[in-house]
Amino acid sequence: MDELARKAAELSGRFNLGVRTEKLSSLSAMGTGGRALVVEAETLAELAELLKIHRLNDWPYLVVGGASNILFPDEDVSFSVLRLTGTFAALKSSGSEILAGAGCSTAKVLALSEKAGLSGLEMTAGLPGTLGGAVRGNAGSAATGAAELASSLEMLDADGRALRLGPGDFQIGYRSLALPTELAGGIITSLRLSLIPSSPQKVKEDSSRVLAARRANQPRERSLGCVFKNPPGDSAGRLIDQCGLKGVKSGGAMISPKHANFIVNVGGASSRDVLALADRAADEVKVRFGHDLELEIKTANKRGLFIKRL
Ligand SMILES: Cc1cc2nc3c(=O)[nH]c(=O)nc-3n(C[C@H](O)[C@H](O)[C@H](O)COP(=O)(O)OP(=O)(O)OC[C@H]3O[C@@H](n4cnc5c(N)ncnc54)[C@H](O)[C@@H]3O)c2cc1C
Repeated sequence: MDELARKAAELSGRFNLGVRTEKLSSLSAMGTGGRALVVEAETLAELAELLKIHRLNDWPYLVVGGASNILFPDEDVSFSVLRLTGTFAALKSSGSEILAGAGCSTAKVLALSEKAGLSGLEMTAGLPGTLGGAVRGNAGSAATGAAELASSLEMLDADGRALRLGPGDFQIGYRSLALPTELAGGIITSLRLSLIPSSPQKVKEDSSRVLAARRANQPRERSLGCVFKNPPGDSAGRLIDQCGLKGVKSGGAMISPKHANFIVNVGGASSRDVLALADRAADEVKVRFGHDLELEIKTANKRGLFIKRL
């Protein structure tokens, strides 16, 4: 029995959880990645227990939403992939707030805000993935991100203890949400979003406009969205384009001819192909313009730690 199978047997024997060994390529928006133990938690109690077991055994884990912003390694990994299902998809509006489980798809949360006539989430129109992932990475438009709407976050820390954070407890930056250090490895379980009362028609019109702009600018092939953050006052896509890299390929990956900050899977790409192109783009932008491009996508290694370069 290999390590993954041993861990799976141990967890399935103890809980009524969805535990399986799966190719990460089937979860990933990029369609790359080796095998992992994937565990689905349906309740807070299950997730807390799962975290405790991982802590006790010193097993690494990574919480994954829609996997639309994580590049997994091509090799089989030693971290467990934790997914939030069941009660983590709960969603309701109350006055000018939306209360949502972190496992809700961002699209569903936006649809509720349209129906309830609550404004704020329009900039997420067309974003794949879950609300937990969007808030963790402050995903959104150039101007703003989903974390800015969060008035409170319910979390479990790495020991499985529940905590509630208010806006004073986290710092929001461009595509980032800085959590207190004791919450490194913590999981957002549910959120309260503070929105602005408007009308269903206006919210729908504004989000349709955002969606149309995304569709016009972004490639249709599999990708992880923008690979690099924009350097202050500039655009990573413009810089990569100026280096003449649109359409450049490595294996099955290509720098999108439509938007140079997207690396797309044009068939059979590996994560190594994607990283080779990201490295090449970062190197050429550094040489030509002197900018150090910072990755926006998260690139996981075998233990689930995020790495900067190959
Ligand atoms: C075609 C395409 C277009 C995109 N366009 C945009 C865009 O316009 N703007 C933009 O900002 N992004 C964009 N993205 C990137 C991506 O969609 C967002 O970052 C998305 O919100 C990530 O959500 P996810 O659930 O897929 O997160 P994942 O990729 O699963 O995870 C991202 C990070 O969040 C962590 N995480 C996930 N869930 C939780 C949780 N519950 N608690 C704590 N941490 C958690 C993960 O561990 C990981 O570190 C695009 C991606 C694609 C594929």
